[in-house]
Amino acid sequence: MKLMFYGAAREVTGSCHGVEVNGRRILVDCGLQHGSDSGLGQNFPFHAGEIDNVVVTHAHIDHSGRLPLLVKQGFKGRIYATEPTCRLLEILLRDSAHIQELEALWRSRKQRRAGDDAAQPLYTIADAEWVFPMLIPCGYNKIIDIGDGASIRFVDAGHLLGSAHAEMWLSEGGEKKKVVFSGDIGTPGHPIIRDPGKINEADIVVIESTYGDRSRPESFDIINEFAKVIDATLSKGGNVVCPSFAVGRTQELLYHIREIKERGLVKSVPDFQVYLDSPLATAATKIYSGDLLGYLNDAAAALVRAGIEPLSFDGLRFVESSDDSKKLNDDRTPKVIISSSGMCDAGRIRHHLKHNLWRPECAVVFSGFQALGTLGRALVDETASTVPLFGEEIVIRCDIHNFRTMSAHADREGLLDWIGAFEEKPESVFVVHGERETCKSFTERLIGLGFRATAPKYSAIHDLLTGEMVFEGRDAIRREGQEPPRRDSAVYQRLMLAGTRLIEVITRNRGGSNKDLAKFADQIDSLLSKWDR
Ligand SMILES: [Zn+2]
Repeated sequence: MKLMFYGAAREVTGSCHGVEVNGRRILVDCGLQHGSDSGLGQNFPFHAGEIDNVVVTHAHIDHSGRLPLLVKQGFKGRIYATEPTCRLLEILLRDSAHIQELEALWRSRKQRRAGDDAAQPLYTIADAEWVFPMLIPCGYNKIIDIGDGASIRFVDAGHLLGSAHAEMWLSEGGEKKKVVFSGDIGTPGHPIIRDPGKINEADIVVIESTYGDRSRPESFDIINEFAKVIDATLSKGGNVVCPSFAVGRTQELLYHIREIKERGLVKSVPDFQVYLDSPLATAATKIYSGDLLGYLNDAAAALVRAGIEPLSFDGLRFVESSDDSKKLNDDRTPKVIISSSGMCDAGRIRHHLKHNLWRPECAVVFSGFQALGTLGRALVDETASTVPLFGEEIVIRCDIHNFRTMSAHADREGLLDWIGAFEEKPESVFVVHGERETCKSFTERLIGLGFRATAPKYSAIHDLLTGEMVFEGRDAIRREGQEPPRRDSAVYQRLMLAGTRLIEVITRNRGGSNKDLAKFADQIDSLLSKWDR
């Protein structure tokens, strides 16, 4: 009975953990690393065909984006996720595949000009389509027996529609262990979705630490603040441009705008138009507008019961074609434009920024995390007076607002509150899914509070029965101030993965007969003497 860390650090891959019980191998999440410029770093340190099941905590790509790759490489089992997660995966994985295809096309052009072979996408839309029939939609709070001594239960994580903590009960040779995977933990009081649930019992906890080293700013009245910005901007004849993540954040903005309109908070142009300019966001909004009564919080559910559609209002327009998107820039009627990507590093939002940043009467409203190095971050930090967009230097004259309290991730206090709900301290806590320093600082905090906490390295293996780390894993993360490592060749990466797999096979042979173990050791020794040069 083992627990494996295949994506412990964000710099290595997206979220991906493994459990082995009675020979059955189960993955928990199968995420893609954001911002990777090549498929090479996305390989698995195992053979996809050896995985029996996948449990997906939520639909975000950094938790699900390598599912098509897993299937392409031979996975044939069932994928368990909540019902809304299954629906969101269909649009998000198709979109991710589309991006992979476009990137490969772009790289191919460049490589061909350099005399190299064409680049292959990590996976295609056709690969993504194979994932969908394997999805098993599950409800919250129901124990599901997945066979070979493993059962799971999803508990609402309050992070994204359908997001879950995964509880896992394992039983092998009369021994029982309960492992809880936090997935991403949300924040209480979020619109539309419910607050994160609490779990009070576990032997082992695997907890995320995205915001493990910071506290959220004081909450503020988002409806009134947003209404004030819209009112002031429209009254000057300007546009309100909202860069927004297509799934989750966009629907929250629509939810707030519906209320702003209902309460008549925008006096200057009460019947203002709102353009949702992102086909992915439109598809996600359709899912959010479906039958979700079992997943909505009380306020949203009350609206639905009263016959009110929480994301629908007069003046909401969905922009499909890119021609229609461009036409918005010629229309001088003051309006609200919601578009993607949320960090402004790609997508239609960049056109809207080009046409609005330089106009002092306009406003840009950010509502999500802006990663270092993105255009969004440069704009909220006000580090530049001009930004390059489509070959032009655009001067920044509009108002820029940053609604930071809308984050969907629990801050340090939220994480501590969540782990504090366990009635007895778990045997071990593993801290994952945070940048290096954040992971370290949150782990130290937990140790200070009396938890036996560790931040496991990439490909580490923990024996759940003996409670020891049987393989420490390797440090694939660049340290502050170090030179970036030279990119390893694809073949060398394959060799590293084979090495990682060798360690796993060794740990699986633990307790085998002396004769077999000696033979195995002899074979490895002979291989090593051949290659140790
Ligand atoms: Zn997430």
